[in-house]
Amino acid sequence: MRWSRALIPTHKEDPSHAETVSHKLMLRAGLIRRLTSGVYNYLPLGWRVVRKVEAIVREEMDRIGCQELLMPVISPSELWQETGRWNVYGKELWRVHDRNGREFALGPTHEEVITDIVRNEVRSYRQLPFTLYQIQTKFRDEIRPRFGVVRAREFIMKDAYSFHENDDSLSVTYDAMYDAYCRIFDRCELDYRPVEAATGAIGGSASHEFMVLCDTGESEVIVCECGYAATDERAEGLIATVMPPEEPLSAEPVDTPGMKTIEDVSLFLGMEPWRLIKTIVYVADGEPVVALIRGDRDVNEEKLAGLLGASMIEAAPPAVVEKVTGAPVGFAGPIGLSGVKLMVDNSVEPLVNAVVGGNAVDVHIRNVTPGRDFSVDGYCDIARIGKGDLCCKCGKTLDSFRGIEVSQVFKLGTKYSDSMKATFLNENGKAMPFVMGCYGLGVSRTVAAIIEQHSDEYGIMWPMSVAPFEVEILAVKFKNEKVREASEQLYDELRAAGMDVLLDDRHDSPGVKFKDADLIGVPVRVTIGERGLKEGTLEIKMRRTGEQRDVAIEEATAEIVKIVEEARA
Ligand SMILES: [Zn+2]
Repeated sequence: MRWSRALIPTHKEDPSHAETVSHKLMLRAGLIRRLTSGVYNYLPLGWRVVRKVEAIVREEMDRIGCQELLMPVISPSELWQETGRWNVYGKELWRVHDRNGREFALGPTHEEVITDIVRNEVRSYRQLPFTLYQIQTKFRDEIRPRFGVVRAREFIMKDAYSFHENDDSLSVTYDAMYDAYCRIFDRCELDYRPVEAATGAIGGSASHEFMVLCDTGESEVIVCECGYAATDERAEGLIATVMPPEEPLSAEPVDTPGMKTIEDVSLFLGMEPWRLIKTIVYVADGEPVVALIRGDRDVNEEKLAGLLGASMIEAAPPAVVEKVTGAPVGFAGPIGLSGVKLMVDNSVEPLVNAVVGGNAVDVHIRNVTPGRDFSVDGYCDIARIGKGDLCCKCGKTLDSFRGIEVSQVFKLGTKYSDSMKATFLNENGKAMPFVMGCYGLGVSRTVAAIIEQHSDEYGIMWPMSVAPFEVEILAVKFKNEKVREASEQLYDELRAAGMDVLLDDRHDSPGVKFKDADLIGVPVRVTIGERGLKEGTLEIKMRRTGEQRDVAIEEATAEIVKIVEEARA
């Protein structure tokens, strides 16, 4: 490609609204342009990178025997109603209707559609197992799109779905897919960690996310030196006990006028927040539930929902809180509650002489001991676990890092085949539900993640495997006849050798061209200028290492081809 004919609109300055490195550089290097909130155009340079990531994904999917297909972006609401997700998915499901008022979803994921295909076309265990995948545009009506393509409302994903006779067969494919993902992210030269994940709105029995390490990532991953790693939505662990031994005193009410928060009450009573027990009323699948946790800690709603087997959980509205506790929000406590399920976090168990809400306006109760002053059926782990807490596997202190989630894999089991009555006939002629797995990978997110890990103050430093161009020829003064001839000749020879080459043939100043070269980050930069030509040489510079050397013109093509071929993944 000749730069003079290309649409590569670069910017010198960081765009003011972009917060992350990848968002800034994708805009500055002319990879993307925002069309509207959370919706982006991929300009030619950005699209070349997307296509290269897609090619790696295709190769690795095909290598483990997956078949590519393409399903529509749009799917009828009836399918989503069959699985109940039309209601469960909430506002993130982008809904549209046609001229007749029929409702449709713009697909955020395709379990319903693929299950519909398979239930209509596959009859026998002899046809199992198999895996289908697509690379396609997906939609999610994010409340707050941000970080450019990382949290967009329209994005590109690879989604794969596997169908099996039983769990053992699913495990074989799940492991193969896990390995394929490792190869994909290795080839993209990403530093990543597979971690245990919550299953969320997709559901199923087991799940892993692949996290790319990145300080500005929106996900937090909890890790232990024993190898345990999980997202903060999922992480299990123990909260260290801070309480010294104490004699239990008699519980007694205490006036707390207008003191509604843990902070208010702890300041008012002059007690550390951990001496309070937080009482939170939730509504889980329409039923009120009360959760108790130590005052300085937070409930992990994903874990709570998982323990309850609930698909939807949210903080109860004030009217429900009043109905359950008999008091307005801010004075809820566990003593005297009846007819409501109590979920008590492990962190509450060691407390004595704690403070709880009094279930009456402006009243708390102090010197409360769990198990004595209110009954507890059993303690459970519903706490948000973080850095400094103790590992659930080995007891050592946990650490954490931030990351971008680039993919997630799920063992779905029969969640979708049961609700959609998708069955096959087993060896004995009996109808059985398909056992399923699903495997997502964010292609546009992966591009952003690569930039987060491969950039410096001057711009992007693409790995060869996904670079929009492998070689950039920077002709210092393209007007000069000798420079032009040498540049054109090298350009032709490299293209003939199968290289992706960008020739900067613009009539801009060398300063502009060098800055742009660093910004768009082509791995090999070849500089051709008058001075070098007089000595019969040109300069090769590696964008990532900064390593540069002069090479004789007649040896240049072979040398560059060798560099590129060695670096291709
Ligand atoms: Zn551990």
